[in-house]
Amino acid sequence: MKKHMCLVRCCCQFVPPNVSENLAKKGVEEARVSIQQSKQIRARRALRSVSFNAFNLEQAVGEANRKVYDCKNTWEQRLEPIARDEGSDHTDDKTVNIVYEYGGIVRDYFRNVLGRNSIDNRGMDLVLNVHFGVDFMNAFWDGDEMTFGDGDGEVFSNFANSLDVVAHELAHGVTQFTANLEYQSQSGALNEHFSDVFGTAISQYANGQTAGDADWLIGDEIMGPALYGEALRSMKAPGTAYNNELLGVDPQPAHMKDYYAGPEDNQGVHINSGIPNRAFYLAAMEMGTDKATLVWYEALQKLWPTANFNDAVTVIVELARQLTRDGKIPLGSAQIIRAAFRDVGLPSTP
Ligand SMILES: [Zn+2]
Repeated sequence: MKKHMCLVRCCCQFVPPNVSENLAKKGVEEARVSIQQSKQIRARRALRSVSFNAFNLEQAVGEANRKVYDCKNTWEQRLEPIARDEGSDHTDDKTVNIVYEYGGIVRDYFRNVLGRNSIDNRGMDLVLNVHFGVDFMNAFWDGDEMTFGDGDGEVFSNFANSLDVVAHELAHGVTQFTANLEYQSQSGALNEHFSDVFGTAISQYANGQTAGDADWLIGDEIMGPALYGEALRSMKAPGTAYNNELLGVDPQPAHMKDYYAGPEDNQGVHINSGIPNRAFYLAAMEMGTDKATLVWYEALQKLWPTANFNDAVTVIVELARQLTRDGKIPLGSAQIIRAAFRDVGLPSTP
């Protein structure tokens, strides 16, 4: 008997809806078209959702091959012929080569550091579509593949050229195959949070940085000339990533006292993720990003679709205790993590 996918499946767009809508309101035509296209993609995927299942364990173990497709500026994914397959030579297309390389870094991080065999832990291939649409201003994971737009070159540059983006989106796949956190409200904010955790951990790992060296910014690499120096989120200081005419002001809270309780953004999935993001930053500064990420990764496998922030605190602290007992992280780690959550107002009392 196959388990059903949760109803609120993640179709994470890297650029949050509130940001895209601000851009469209400011007259950025490419943002308006991107929002329209994104809606169509979601509708199409909703129809296709029966064709794949996160818990299909009857499938044979795969080899986690990278498969890069060039959409050639059409709105079609997996456009044949394949642009670059696992082990094949460089192509003339820089974006194809970069996304191939970044997909490999993410896959190797999960395999070598966390002991996970690709997104589903069963060697699932990494399907990466580049040059999707015309000036498409987003990137997304939609259940079984990743897709990247070129951006307009002014507000956003090519989304495939950022390791943060590739890692964040592939991590949504890992969440889908583990806790499968529902993409709304607090469980959705946790879904976003885990993608930012792996996104930043993988960037730091690839760049040889420590928690103290890292900038803790998400999305800074995709900012075009019009937004140079801005980012989409800051895990260190949520709410400070951007402040400009085009995007508006970063709405992320850094503490439960500023929790967003409104309806936008699937009840704040990209907004309230600032709260656990800041807790992760504080913990990583004390215990190191690699050890903190290990705790979070183990916790992700114990969480469940409707888990809220308080549930996540309980499970993460419990996993820290277990990993301490197993000698995988130093004594005192659970206390560090508990203190980090307390600093952002968690666990919260109703
Ligand atoms: Zn996301």
